[in-house]
Amino acid sequence: MRAQTTLRTGVSIEGVGLHSGHPVRAHFRPAPANHGIVFIRLDHPATPIPARLDSASTFDFATTLAADGVSIGTVEHVLSAAAGEGLDNCRIELEGPEIPILDGSALPFVRLFHAAGFERLEAPVQPMALERSVQIARGDRSIVYRPDGPGLTITYEIDFSHPVVGRQSLTVAIRPEEYSTRIAPARTFGFARDVEALRARGLARGGSLHNAIVLDDSGIASGPLRFRDEFVRHKILDLVGDLSLLGRPLQGQIHAHKAGHALHIEFARALAAAFRKPAIDLDDSVTSAVSS
Ligand SMILES: [Zn+2]
Repeated sequence: MRAQTTLRTGVSIEGVGLHSGHPVRAHFRPAPANHGIVFIRLDHPATPIPARLDSASTFDFATTLAADGVSIGTVEHVLSAAAGEGLDNCRIELEGPEIPILDGSALPFVRLFHAAGFERLEAPVQPMALERSVQIARGDRSIVYRPDGPGLTITYEIDFSHPVVGRQSLTVAIRPEEYSTRIAPARTFGFARDVEALRARGLARGGSLHNAIVLDDSGIASGPLRFRDEFVRHKILDLVGDLSLLGRPLQGQIHAHKAGHALHIEFARALAAAFRKPAIDLDDSVTSAVSS
């Protein structure tokens, strides 16, 4: 069992907020064992927002955390970087209402954590492993958990009727070496028509060709891809971040098919409920199906 970690020293990063378009600075501070990842908006210092499922909601293709009416937007990439790299405890202070979008991937956060260095704490991590499978489905979108293996392995499949994306499938064992090279650099992606619709509502003001792969009807409006299958890699990045809201590292195998933030969060809630409920019934699986 590995020891819990925190950062060796405080580090900061600055970028624009995806929705506001305003510059925002984030400060990452070391934190003690069992503190977890906690966000603090410096304009609401009395309301810490823990990175936990009960603070989570999804909003316009992103994950938001809120407590007592104070919210922090676009948390999934920084949370993914922390979970992927095995950073368990950190206090993240923000000078604004959202995490900077940076290049649209988790790589700038991974580099920042490596620059700070990791400190081992005198407490073991307590992984979450279930003894039964959990499945959630909504129409043709689904996520399945199977209790298998000591670590976390994610298989993700997407299918977009777009010439550059199409069907993509990838299986990755979520370990720091694999995560930092194969998953963290994958950028978020969006369709130019969706960006226009968001802008019309005053959102995505910070969105640009520098912090997302932007697709138009026939191809890519932004620069070259970092991976041919960068799209499915980014979906794994997002899922790692959303699952980190369980508050402890998950062990097992996950198979996600055409999912997104809303289904990720619903699935994490189903996992948490299955983990809390003792396996006393004869039925060894929990199935939740919602038609849409
Ligand atoms: Zn994302």
